[in-house]
Amino acid sequence: MRTLDDLLAEGVAGRRVLVRSDLNVPLADPATPAGLRTITDDNRVRASVPTISELADAGAKVVVCAHLGRPKGQVNPQFSLAPVAASLSAALGRPVVLASDTIGPGAQETVAALKDGEVALLENVRFEAGETKNDPAVSDGFAALADLYVDDAFGAVHRAHSSTAGVAERLPHAAGRLVLAELGVLRRLTDNPDRPYVVVLGGSKVSDKLGVIRSLLPKVDKLLIGGGMCFTFLAAQGHGVGGSLLEEDQIDTCRELLAESGDRIVLPVDVVVAADVTADAVTSVVGADAIPGGMKGLDVGPKTVALFADVLSNARTVFWNGPMGVFEVAPFAAGTLGVARAIAAVDGTTVVGGGDSAAAVKLLGLDPTSFTHISTGGGASLEFLEGRELPGITALEA
Ligand code: ADP
Ligand code: MG
Repeated sequence: MRTLDDLLAEGVAGRRVLVRSDLNVPLADPATPAGLRTITDDNRVRASVPTISELADAGAKVVVCAHLGRPKGQVNPQFSLAPVAASLSAALGRPVVLASDTIGPGAQETVAALKDGEVALLENVRFEAGETKNDPAVSDGFAALADLYVDDAFGAVHRAHSSTAGVAERLPHAAGRLVLAELGVLRRLTDNPDRPYVVVLGGSKVSDKLGVIRSLLPKVDKLLIGGGMCFTFLAAQGHGVGGSLLEEDQIDTCRELLAESGDRIVLPVDVVVAADVTADAVTSVVGADAIPGGMKGLDVGPKTVALFADVLSNARTVFWNGPMGVFEVAPFAAGTLGVARAIAAVDGTTVVGGGDSAAAVKLLGLDPTSFTHISTGGGASLEFLEGRELPGITALEA
């Protein structure tokens, strides 16, 4: 795979370089009266800076493109990259011109007016209906705007879209700094990880993550399961789960996975329950086999935190995806905080993947530098660990 260093070595001065970045930042809802939405976490913007800066410093005409939210193929000012352009400009310390469209006349004029070392940002790539279908006409539109293509959007490499795989097939291409850094860290998990290798999974949808569990089971020493997804496993063991999240159609699969896993899957032993998710909820801690009917399990309990922390204390490699509870609401944050602290204390490689997990690190006030790496790509990092092909990477390798 060609890298940014290869492009820089060949020289990019005066050349138009299209950079696909991951600028899909969380935005506060709703828009302010002025129409600009506020970015609540600019982590992805900051992670995109090195590639863009190096190209601009080398005299390239840098044309950045990215998606934001799900405008579903229609121009929608709610999903304009205007707030992102301002944030990117501040992070880069140089002006960023926002084009008035994605691949249309506005983008063409903006790119034509760029001088060497200047940076433009195209409008949301998902304003184009064909983008997520990898429509050849949209891919052609991106390719017409540049001489070279750099993919730095790790969070989008698991999708074959026009601005990822499509344009990579049409222009000389290379991987950017962030993509290379993410792949480097994740390869430390897949290629001969230091052991014990412990994976911690949580979050809300078990069906989304069963594929990961199945492919990780043979590779890990322990798989700790918390969050909303643990209840389908508890149900598979024959326990009642009250009103907790439950995916009934996945119970049989969970039962099979438990049978296959020996003692490698570790489930919660106690659970924080409440009648509902409210900031002033009355909570109690119950055994994982004794969740009262009508109550919802909304966090793992203190005994579970101690159990998980004990397993983690021996670990040399940890991957964590998915919060242990509804961490956004104070009474249900302790489990995620406790487990995250235990991961941060591990002497070895610790990788956090997943948008909500990364948000939890921030919201709960943990020091992000106490983890080896916080991935910008939740879905992409999970698919990489599953061993699935990432179309964006395959296109770069061609
Ligand atoms: P990530 O983005 O890190 O991959 P997910 O999107 O899978 O994580 O899940 C995050 C969501 O899971 C959070 O919004 C959290 O509130 C929710 N969650 C965690 N535990 C529970 C639970 N016991 N019941 C309901 N929701 C939960
Ligand atoms: Mg999420």
